[in-house]
Amino acid sequence: MTLVLNDPLPIRPAAPADPRKQAHERAKLAKRLRRQVGQAIADYGMIEDGDKVMVCLSGGKDSYTMLDILLQLQKKAPVRFELVAVNLDQKQPGFPEHVLPEYLRSIGVPFTILEQDTYSVVKRVVPEGKTLCSLCSRMRRGALYTHAREQGFTKIALGHHRDDLVATFFMNLFFHAKLASMPPKLRSDDGEHVVIRPLATCREADLVAYADWKQFPIIPCTLCGSQENLQRKQVGRMLAAWDREFPGRVDTIARALADVRPSQLADTKLFDFLSLGRLGDAPLPDAHAWLAGDEASPLPEF
Ligand code: SF4
Repeated sequence: MTLVLNDPLPIRPAAPADPRKQAHERAKLAKRLRRQVGQAIADYGMIEDGDKVMVCLSGGKDSYTMLDILLQLQKKAPVRFELVAVNLDQKQPGFPEHVLPEYLRSIGVPFTILEQDTYSVVKRVVPEGKTLCSLCSRMRRGALYTHAREQGFTKIALGHHRDDLVATFFMNLFFHAKLASMPPKLRSDDGEHVVIRPLATCREADLVAYADWKQFPIIPCTLCGSQENLQRKQVGRMLAAWDREFPGRVDTIARALADVRPSQLADTKLFDFLSLGRLGDAPLPDAHAWLAGDEASPLPEF
């Protein structure tokens, strides 16, 4: 047979996905997400009997998935707890107000839509060309915390996932010189609220696939026209490149966040290096004493 190079290649239709295989993969994905969320809830004591959990719903894939998985777990949970979805309508131009109420009614979940025009404030306060996200998120948090206090919520659930935790870790490392991430559970700075992140160990790729399968009515967070923080973008690109080159690296880093060895780092607040190997009880001289002779000797003329 002669191969004529100029002949167009026959166009073959893409093989239809095998429905049984697809159903199997989706069931596996749902099970994995339930297992990871259930494990995180248990490991970090995120939810207990009598909790009233405010599930913050932005309209993005992560918060939809969080609500969906929590609802599934609630049905068979060993404790009784309440879930209420709360969205803050920040009055961004073009925000499709009907989408979340319609969705939440369709699945029969109690919900509240708060309305606060943080958009105008952020636009007015942040200089032109600067990213709006930092102030916007702070204001959103303030509004949600106020609502949680007024309504007696005992936990506030946010949809950050494993990749958010790892990206935040590197942003803190590169730009703020500290080893810190977003914890799966924390007490708010004002001491009033307990914030939980049930998706803390879930891969973002899984959340994308799950949201795609479930066809959640996604509302983009960029209606305001703000660009994602440049530093976060850089870190995101770095992590994606690493994971392409060394598959599983982000997973390894995420696991390292839960396996910290203070004695193998250098933070004197976390590990008592001063007491290590002491010969006696005499007070140790401080740095000033150690450097006294050095400070007295001037540098040669240059
Ligand atoms: S993209 Fe817009 S709505 Fe989303 S956090 Fe940033 S400023 Fe706020």
